[in-house]
Amino acid sequence: MTQSTTRSEALFDRARAVTPGGVNSPVRAFGGVGGVPRFIERAEGPWLTDVDGNRYVDLICSWGPMILGHAHPDVLAAVTDAARRGFSFGTPSEGEVALAAEVVDRVEPLEQVRLVSSGTEATMSALRLARGVTGRSVIVKFAGCYHGHVDALLAQAGSGVATFALPDSAGVPASAAGETVVLPYNDLAAVEELFAARGQEIAAVITEASPGNMGIVPPGPGFTEGLRRVTAAHGALLISDEVMTGFRSSRSGWYGHETGPDGAHPGGYEGGAPDLFTFGKVMGGGFPAAAFGGRADLMARLAPEGPVYQAGTLSGNPVATAAGLATLRACTPQLYPRLEATATRIADAASAALSAEGVAHRVQWAGSMFSVFFREGQVRSFDDAQQQDTAAYGRFFQAMLEGGVHLPPSAFEAWFVSGAHDEEALETILDALPAAAKAAS
Ligand code: PLP
Repeated sequence: MTQSTTRSEALFDRARAVTPGGVNSPVRAFGGVGGVPRFIERAEGPWLTDVDGNRYVDLICSWGPMILGHAHPDVLAAVTDAARRGFSFGTPSEGEVALAAEVVDRVEPLEQVRLVSSGTEATMSALRLARGVTGRSVIVKFAGCYHGHVDALLAQAGSGVATFALPDSAGVPASAAGETVVLPYNDLAAVEELFAARGQEIAAVITEASPGNMGIVPPGPGFTEGLRRVTAAHGALLISDEVMTGFRSSRSGWYGHETGPDGAHPGGYEGGAPDLFTFGKVMGGGFPAAAFGGRADLMARLAPEGPVYQAGTLSGNPVATAAGLATLRACTPQLYPRLEATATRIADAASAALSAEGVAHRVQWAGSMFSVFFREGQVRSFDDAQQQDTAAYGRFFQAMLEGGVHLPPSAFEAWFVSGAHDEEALETILDALPAAAKAAS
């Protein structure tokens, strides 16, 4: 059966007339896989329904936030109740306090957080704070890590930037990019060498706690520990970006994570906690709520107490904080083993189907997050990730879509599952895999 996409096509034409590329975030345009992006009309549990009436099992989960599935009843009730009481106050409100306390409570080294509206704002603000605290300007990031579209961090970034094979972004002034040093991920010797030469200039190293934006590439043994040791020795801050892993790789994010289903990599923070963290995605439950935080002495340097300015009209928005709080409260300890079991079934079945067709691939894990690289052998860096067969992924993606499964439209992304992925959703995925593997071969 071939799906009708008439209405999505018509909407995409209209969208392109009024919006660059027809989308409000580049990777949604299907540039990495070809074909017509599906315009989604509604979503419930693990299912997306598009404007032509096609139904798909959702393995994007809004790029991470929808950990409970779509329109979860507890979150819906909390959002509806909050919206009835007003949409935005621009004053302090109780929901902000409750969400901040819930986040602080889950991640032991966190003493304070400030709420913002997106992961980009969180990392941007964390960088400003790190520079304000240290009085230094150089930031170190890793190739293939994506931290949002912050000027200083759009160098060799993963996610959509990798999908469109951009080394960096036009419009970022040399002065901003010149303060950023990009190093290969999982290469501690490169970090040590840079610090030996320029340690006194470096304000912070920012890293994804376990990168998910070049596909899943967890830190190898000793890497996170080495980052902590080297930054501390030179008076630079370590910023752990948990926007993707936060409250997803475990109830406390990567901080609370021990081992993935493969048991093969260390999680958590060997070598001591980072100085600052950033969060987003799950903590907003599908609404714009994110945060950055860390030790109280560092956070005290923010206005109004300190000289580092940071603000937001919609920061701590009451509807978003209600959604985030209801979501985090429903993320019980029992949820995570279930997510891992679901993810394991999907990954094992995908691997078996691809093996049956002789398609080179490799599955990598970070808690319940996983990705399938279309190449063989361990992927430890962005260079490794870029050596996959993206055309094969594109064919696989299209066949899965035809089979009723919506994967991320890029070979450089994690596949996300939710607590709502039930037997019917799993059966749909398992049924679609053989034809997709054949198409990829
Ligand atoms: N940091 C990480 C690790 C992310 O994965 C993302 C988004 O994908 C961001 C930051 C940016 O978050 P947002 O898209 O909410 O601005």
